[in-house]
Amino acid sequence: MKNEALISAAKTHGSPLYIYDADQIKANYEQFTEAFKVEKLKVHYACKALNNQAVLKLFKSLGAGLDCVSIQEVQLGLKAGFQAKDILFTPNNISTEEYEEAITLGVKINIDNLYTLEYFGMNHPDIPVYIRINPHLMAGGNHHISVGHIDSKFGISIHQLPNIERIVQKLNIHVTGIHVHTGSDILDADVFIKAAELLFSVVERFHTVTHIDFGSGFKVAYRPEDLHTDIDAFGKKFSEAFNDFCEKQKKTYTLEFEPGKYVVSNAGYFITKSNLIKQTTSCTFVGLDTGFNHLIRPMFYNAYHHIENLSNPAGEKKVYNVVGYVCETDSFALDRIISEVRKGDLLVFKNAGAYCATMASNYNSRPRPAEVMIVEGKDYLIKRRETLEDLMRTQMEVEINY
Ligand SMILES: *Cc1c(COP(=O)(O)O)cnc(C)c1O
Repeated sequence: MKNEALISAAKTHGSPLYIYDADQIKANYEQFTEAFKVEKLKVHYACKALNNQAVLKLFKSLGAGLDCVSIQEVQLGLKAGFQAKDILFTPNNISTEEYEEAITLGVKINIDNLYTLEYFGMNHPDIPVYIRINPHLMAGGNHHISVGHIDSKFGISIHQLPNIERIVQKLNIHVTGIHVHTGSDILDADVFIKAAELLFSVVERFHTVTHIDFGSGFKVAYRPEDLHTDIDAFGKKFSEAFNDFCEKQKKTYTLEFEPGKYVVSNAGYFITKSNLIKQTTSCTFVGLDTGFNHLIRPMFYNAYHHIENLSNPAGEKKVYNVVGYVCETDSFALDRIISEVRKGDLLVFKNAGAYCATMASNYNSRPRPAEVMIVEGKDYLIKRRETLEDLMRTQMEVEINY
């Protein structure tokens, strides 16, 4: 996306502002799906990464399904026009009532604990299910986003396979899918293939299985020098392993993935304005018109987001601590080299498509930013900026005599 387009959108819609490049999302999705050379491929977009209706509709138009982790995400998917059969519900630690709602809505359900598996067998033996396995392969660079390790709360441990088998046989459960999601930031195809081999050994135990879902965890480059998953090379290697398994089993399974970050991260830009340049005895702060209420990944995951000065790209390079306006320590970047920042300059955070707007809050009573999607050069406001009224909407006016 050209800087001029970002500046122009910020002029129209104000700051701070999230901007998404629909063409980039489309290119990412197409590259992803074309990387796998298998007979049957199904990609569910993990919509917790970015869940605006316009984005969901874009994925629908591309032929994707949806991976949802809450019943509300399921409902948003249905609102966007997805059919229930194209939605995979992969929740964690939810109530039995929420599973019941999912059954009513008719979406595919992925079970990640033995209690629920038994519950389905006892009460809904006719409902086909996926089972989420935890293979205990440590993967990913950050403990917070790595969900396949031994202590992880996700999935049913592969060591409990005998229990799963016993419950499935006894209650005659129709297991159509086996699922694994080892966590974010996997760079190495071999880690994935190792998880795949483990999963194949699970699939072999259930003759009703037709879908094998390998979740996600594809790495994107956050720093200019970062490596990202080479999806073409990965797809080639992985497809071979998958096709070999199908051949060995004499059965055509559907290969499934559920990328979030990979398809939307680099399509997002977060535009902010510098409110203040503050020189202290040890450093120079750039104070922005935003904080961790709008972009929490740097503080939450210690994540790096590349920052550029849109208003002064050719300015002299200087070293800054880029911080927010929230009354907490909310540092976006320390000792970061950026073209000279002046009061009022527009700064852009790159890779702001995934887990940025969806993680925003109203902390410090700040409205959340507007969101814009650019489609073939034209920008559409897909979420307006919140107002004070929005913040007050759920608060009740009550008369209490204190
Ligand atoms: C969050 C999530 C994903 C997407 O992960 P990314 O790293 O964003 O690609 C996929 N599957 C499940 C079950 C998830 O919870």
